[in-house]
Amino acid sequence: MHSFGEHRTGALFDPFGFLDLRRRQILDQGWAGTFRTKVLLFLPVHRVAAELNAVHGRPTKDLYIMLGTLILQQMHDMTDAAAVEAVAFNIAWQYALDIGSSEDAYVSERTIRNYRALVIEHGLDQVLFRTLTDHLMEVYKVDATHQRIDSTALQSAMRKLSRLGVFTETIERFLRKLSQKFPDDYRRLDEVIRVRYLDGGKGMCFGAGSKPSEAARHLDQAAEDLLDLIERFAGTPAAGLPGYKLMRRVLDEQCEVKPDGGRKVVLKEKADGRSLQNPSDPDSTYNAHKGQGYTMQVMETYVPDEPATLPGPDADATTTPADDSQQPQAQEPEQPLPPKPDLITFVAVNGMPDYDGKALVPAIEETAARGIAPEDLLGDTHYGTGNNPQAAAEHGVELISPAQPPKGSLQDNLQLEDFGIDDDGLVVTCPAGRKPISLSVSPSGKNYQARFDSDACANCSLRPTCPVQDPRPSDPKACRVQYDRPRLDMYRRRLGEKKPEFQQRYRWRAGIEATMSRLKHVLGMGALRVRGLMAVTYEAFLGALSLNIMRCAAAR
Ligand code: SF4
Repeated sequence: MHSFGEHRTGALFDPFGFLDLRRRQILDQGWAGTFRTKVLLFLPVHRVAAELNAVHGRPTKDLYIMLGTLILQQMHDMTDAAAVEAVAFNIAWQYALDIGSSEDAYVSERTIRNYRALVIEHGLDQVLFRTLTDHLMEVYKVDATHQRIDSTALQSAMRKLSRLGVFTETIERFLRKLSQKFPDDYRRLDEVIRVRYLDGGKGMCFGAGSKPSEAARHLDQAAEDLLDLIERFAGTPAAGLPGYKLMRRVLDEQCEVKPDGGRKVVLKEKADGRSLQNPSDPDSTYNAHKGQGYTMQVMETYVPDEPATLPGPDADATTTPADDSQQPQAQEPEQPLPPKPDLITFVAVNGMPDYDGKALVPAIEETAARGIAPEDLLGDTHYGTGNNPQAAAEHGVELISPAQPPKGSLQDNLQLEDFGIDDDGLVVTCPAGRKPISLSVSPSGKNYQARFDSDACANCSLRPTCPVQDPRPSDPKACRVQYDRPRLDMYRRRLGEKKPEFQQRYRWRAGIEATMSRLKHVLGMGALRVRGLMAVTYEAFLGALSLNIMRCAAAR
């Protein structure tokens, strides 16, 4: 049965009346006051209530307090036990949650766990983030015109395993469940297998008899054991165990099963980034650059100009008064307007191998649907690849993102960008300052060519790094430079990026690094205590919401 506390009307007797004025001011002007007045009343409690039985069962805890507790727990990076204590004894928490009775001041760890599970199961973490962020954007009149996007890696609470470790841990997990659910089947297994994978196969991987040079042999052995176990229990009730499905997954991702006539199971050269990293977190993925875990996409607003100021006294007021009785007005300094908070408008959690560029259009579309889409969006090189600039433009968003460096630039080779090209797309000069001997454009207008004197090129000191092609047998007098329309567009984009106007606009992108740092070091997202995509998603959305609330509190 649902239970909603009455938080809109004031209590007859103020439960916080015992606080003196100064302590009350501290609460009102800090995060507790912001939470109490700008967040608590706007929690989407009815969305949560929709997932609970409205009539039957015991009355729930006050849903405002429960949802508020989950957010505050995230905001203060607390364990469940610490959150229980804070609800019971912390005046700031009680003020923020408008707890007026001792009955409301008690929640158990189990209740917190159950409500968190409910929120995760129904994706209400995302509803909370979007509903409250949109509300805060409106209350604080945050301008969504300018936004920036970036990603960061999130590591769940799992151990990094070697390839052999993935095999041994997966087999050990299956055998452990087998011994519990189907003890007779477990006993019938060869004892060598049972002993080999005891304790995650530590005896095999790290025991006194284990040498690093034997790792490859152990891997082959583990792969064969895996296949044996899969074949042995296929079609039996034990095949319904989650551990059996993980063994199948490891086999598919890491091995090839060859037909008879040779070895039955062969290890693949390399496993895909989406392969199982650790059976304790089957959703976790891998990227050679970022490591194991998940990618969190974050888009936030920013204000590109210096803080605006309230107008100072009119200049005329400081002129000498015509009448002696009028005293000159003392010039008051201009008052800076309170800064608007930068708020996170979009969050997504993806796999490690997911390319950042893929997150751009969903971010624009989602914020557009909520009426807070940017007009210009800053992103690093990854967001500006492929068709993204055009796709953003189709949604009315100007994407400001540097182009990828041209091929060969790392080797200090000359590029098309080192040639002079006019407004019609035709080469005017080469890097050595020479003019082409002829120019041509294909009938379709999509392909361009400049021919340079091959004798001059042969004697040019820049020839080893110049992109001109060697003379063809059919045209021995010319070295050619050829490019097409997309390459020409890229040439213009790269030249534009060297202009001060681009640098001036793009410099605001770096500010999002501070947001990532706060998420990780203040809100505890650098060392998550959870595993699995849904739990990590919960942390990401509530962490971003918490940061938004903290920023609003700081901007009061
Ligand atoms: S090699 Fe030819 S095209 Fe290249 S810089 Fe030298 S003269 Fe110019």
